Amino acid sequence: MAKKAKAIVIDPNLCKGCHICISVCPHGVLEKSEVVDNRGFFLPKVVDLEACKVCQLCEMECPDFAISVASLE
Ligand code: SF4
Ligand code: SF4
Repeated sequence: MAKKAKAIVIDPNLCKGCHICISVCPHGVLEKSEVVDNRGFFLPKVVDLEACKVCQLCEMECPDFAISVASLE
């Protein structure tokens, strides 16, 4: 059975809004947020948690270890 995500957490203190995670996600789970943070960064946001297959590409490619995906299993 395909894996499902329980939660995707983006640490706003570590994330620099590079959007690599958005680019590498094969399932359209993440998008750029329209809210700018106090450093001028547009952080990513989760738009389709159900679509996440817990492939962990976003975690592996994030240069700042800012995103983590928790699996349901
Ligand atoms: S774990 Fe995979 S499917 Fe889920 S958000 Fe990250 S890149 Fe997308
Ligand atoms: S790859 Fe990491 S630092 Fe870049 S936007 Fe995604 S969570 Fe933030």
